[in-house]
Amino acid sequence: MNPVSIRELAKWYGEIAGLNKVSLELRPGITGLVGPNGAGKSTLMKILTGQLKPSYGEALIFGEDVWKRPSARRRLGYSPEGDSFYEDMSVLGFVRAMGRLCGLGACADAFAREALEKTGALEFAGKRLKACSKGMRQRAKLAQALVHKPDILVLDEPLNGIDARGRREMLRLFDGLAAEGVTILVSSHILEEIEAVTDQILFLAQGNVIASGPLAEVRGLLKDHPLKLLITATDPRKLGARLLESGLVTGIVFKVRGGLDEEDLVLSVPQVESFYRALPGLVSELGIGIERLVPLDASVEAVFGYLVGEEMGGGA
Ligand code: ADP
Ligand code: MG
Repeated sequence: MNPVSIRELAKWYGEIAGLNKVSLELRPGITGLVGPNGAGKSTLMKILTGQLKPSYGEALIFGEDVWKRPSARRRLGYSPEGDSFYEDMSVLGFVRAMGRLCGLGACADAFAREALEKTGALEFAGKRLKACSKGMRQRAKLAQALVHKPDILVLDEPLNGIDARGRREMLRLFDGLAAEGVTILVSSHILEEIEAVTDQILFLAQGNVIASGPLAEVRGLLKDHPLKLLITATDPRKLGARLLESGLVTGIVFKVRGGLDEEDLVLSVPQVESFYRALPGLVSELGIGIERLVPLDASVEAVFGYLVGEEMGGGA
């Protein structure tokens, strides 16, 4: 049995789908949950940790529904994205209190110190949370997630606000825990950041898992993710005809701009990378000027950013 099974999980915030019937399995080891801001990463993690009730579907921890069976949550540690701290508590006091909430009782102090040592937070254990830097708070949050030695760790953007040295330490810690058999789900809106942590990626966009698997495969799948681009060009009809003929686009809609007889092109591009590779040559061959080239969908734009990087720049 996998430590985590998620089945058709959906969450609606009024009209907005935070999560759109997502199904996935997590095995022991580290899995990176990657996607642009607003993709649904935090929503998924809140449901998985029993903080939020799903609108549909279920999240199972070792076969038990985490919403219906609160006891299942004992096997789980969670480091939330935001800070919801008791600001007047010391770091040690906070982690110890969280340990007691997990039922550690008399062991809470020893376990808290151990968790603080692991996360590099022991040196400022006596500091009040309100006096802690962002990096210190991240370490304190991580320590409270670890305090009861859970089998599953859910870490929402834990590297946010941590410097390069701190990151290396965190990565070592994650690796060590994974080697002990812990199942770790760690989120980030930066793909490069997760690359250093694990090769196993789930890519979320607009509430859907649009790619999953080893990083190289995910990159490939993302490259094949169809998207719509808007182009403003000097001779849109000529360009459009040539693009269709070349097979680089599978559909074209002409859009009148500003009430004039000028038109923009909206292209359906099945394969971004080859499109980008071929476009400059094609444009110079036809003697066409391109004034504007933008992806039409904000979240896909972010996916896009990961793939084409600088090439996107200010257009072709
Ligand atoms: P991520 O963590 O990937 O940035 P979130 O899970 O926070 O994404 O958000 C997913 C979507 O759900 C976004 O469109 C966001 O605006 C929306 N959302 C999240 N939380 C709430 C909420 N409490 N009320 C309304 N909409 C929300
Ligand atoms: Mg988030």
